[in-house]
Amino acid sequence: MDSMKTTLNQFNSNQENSYDSVVVGGGMVGAATALGLAKLGLKVLLFEQKAPELVWDDATPFAVRVSALTRSSENILKNLGAWSGIENRRFQPFVAMNVWESGSENKLAFHAQEIMEPNLGHTVENFIVQAALWEQLEQQPNIKINLTEKIDTLTLPAGKDFQADAVLMLDSGRKITTQLVVGADGAFSKLRQLASIGLEQLDYEQCAVVGCVKTEKSHQNACWQRYTPDGPFAYLGMAEEVSSIAWYLPLDKMQWALSLDDKAFAREIEQASGFELGRVIHVAERSAFPLVRRHARSYVKPCFALVGDAAHTINPQAGQGVNIGLLDAAALIDQVSVALRQGRQIGTLPMLRKYERQRRGDNVIVQRSMEFFDKLFAAELLENFRHTVIDLTGQSKLSAPLKHWLMAQVLNGREEIPSLAKSSKPL
Ligand SMILES: Cc1cc2nc3c(=O)[nH]c(=O)nc-3n(C[C@H](O)[C@H](O)[C@H](O)COP(=O)(O)OP(=O)(O)OC[C@H]3O[C@@H](n4cnc5c(N)ncnc54)[C@H](O)[C@@H]3O)c2cc1C
Repeated sequence: MDSMKTTLNQFNSNQENSYDSVVVGGGMVGAATALGLAKLGLKVLLFEQKAPELVWDDATPFAVRVSALTRSSENILKNLGAWSGIENRRFQPFVAMNVWESGSENKLAFHAQEIMEPNLGHTVENFIVQAALWEQLEQQPNIKINLTEKIDTLTLPAGKDFQADAVLMLDSGRKITTQLVVGADGAFSKLRQLASIGLEQLDYEQCAVVGCVKTEKSHQNACWQRYTPDGPFAYLGMAEEVSSIAWYLPLDKMQWALSLDDKAFAREIEQASGFELGRVIHVAERSAFPLVRRHARSYVKPCFALVGDAAHTINPQAGQGVNIGLLDAAALIDQVSVALRQGRQIGTLPMLRKYERQRRGDNVIVQRSMEFFDKLFAAELLENFRHTVIDLTGQSKLSAPLKHWLMAQVLNGREEIPSLAKSSKPL
């Protein structure tokens, strides 16, 4: 933390008012964006409300918020130099994914070996991903971090004035100008509101209860997802025989689930998981989130772009939220890199529209495919059909190419991925 204080002190004693880019929100996606832009040589100012803890202690309790990172995300974090910060802390590769339905014995099993991969992804606590990125931010002399001032107003250039900058007014009365403001301030983005960008929303009327538990049987380095009439239940294998849980319930059961004491909670988890990993022998801190699909009506305006949850939130069942957010970051960095190579101004609307075109369609596909699966498993009428599909897909040799294709999609995303998401493309 000492070195972090040094960075902040440097900022406070050196208050500049003009930056190439200003990133608001230093969560996983904002930190990756700020780091990538700085690695292109830009002078970047990052606003965040709370710095993550960088000092690591092996005894740190497992956190409530965990993400399953795809290969694309791993590549982005490697290419930004942040993956070693994850390896130095705690992470768990998973080699298999098992999906089944209550009332049926048969599982649809996906194994990394089938596609000649060492694993299907990694489960990592969110604060560890963020800390690994912030460790790298500290190494960049051209990034300043502001934890104290707040943004009051944002003025974006109107019309086709490509030369004009965005202007941010801070609560201290200071004025900052920049060619590109990036809103990475999460689902309730203030920047999205300041930029007057509307939002499409769908309340799933569902919640996810999350936390970590220790089970009698090993998770076998796998993810386990069981569909029940209330919604799916998932175990994500973590280090040291611990699993992170994601327990999806109708929204009106959220308070009930949170009010259960440890013993009663453990019994409910055993039932929801069909005792797949045996008894639950320890329950840690837990939390619950109402699930809402959000999609910004536009990702961009002149000198302004939204990334990550500020642009879209999805049903977390497929564990894709931060993965598509990191792809946003990588795609935006790609477009800025092209503009710089061509000697053009960054943050022009045509440049930013290319970023939006690259990402919006993909994000819609991920959002909607999750809803399709949710509806498919929620419909009682389709029970026999689902059992047949799971049996056939799991057992038939003919279905192997379909399974391999699905695994490759989940692991790597679509073929046309940003350069930072490809292996060995360090900035
Ligand atoms: C239950 C659940 C399970 C999930 N599981 C997975 C999973 O397995 N895999 C996966 O890929 N995704 C998962 N997700 C989604 C994932 O957590 C999010 O997509 C991800 O955290 C978004 O990151 P972000 O950086 O865009 O936003 P956030 O994590 O919300 O970060 C925003 C940052 O901005 C800061 N901020 C906010 N306002 C301001 C302001 N005005 N000024 C300065 N800073 C500000 C905040 O402090 C925060 O640090 C899950 C989500 C839920 C709810």
